[in-house]
Amino acid sequence: MSAKNITMEASMKVGDIPLGFTAGPGTTKNFKTGDWRSARPVLDREKCSYCGFCYVYCPDGVYRDMGPEEKYYKVDLDYCKGCGVCAHECPKKCIQMVVEEV
Ligand code: SF4
Ligand code: SF4
Repeated sequence: MSAKNITMEASMKVGDIPLGFTAGPGTTKNFKTGDWRSARPVLDREKCSYCGFCYVYCPDGVYRDMGPEEKYYKVDLDYCKGCGVCAHECPKKCIQMVVEEV
């Protein structure tokens, strides 16, 4: 089926959608979506204020709170898609998006 022929009908189920779409809730952990990334977020911990904006704004929820001793949030690169939202929202501008080596 070509992309031009795709139309959604009320009677369609998720499984009816042709391959190429991501469908079905709760399945993202089954796929290492980090393979999609063309740039990765790199944190300068010296500048980080441990505010949590990166953790809150990441649309994929791939930041992990390292706790009050470490005072930073660690990205899980297996799942980070490289969208750059965390770098954009960081008030301290301490996240740089660095192009991935191919
Ligand atoms: S948003 Fe920036 S300053 Fe805040 S915790 Fe994340 S990296 Fe640190
Ligand atoms: S680049 Fe996007 S997916 Fe990756 S950690 Fe930042 S906000 Fe999350």
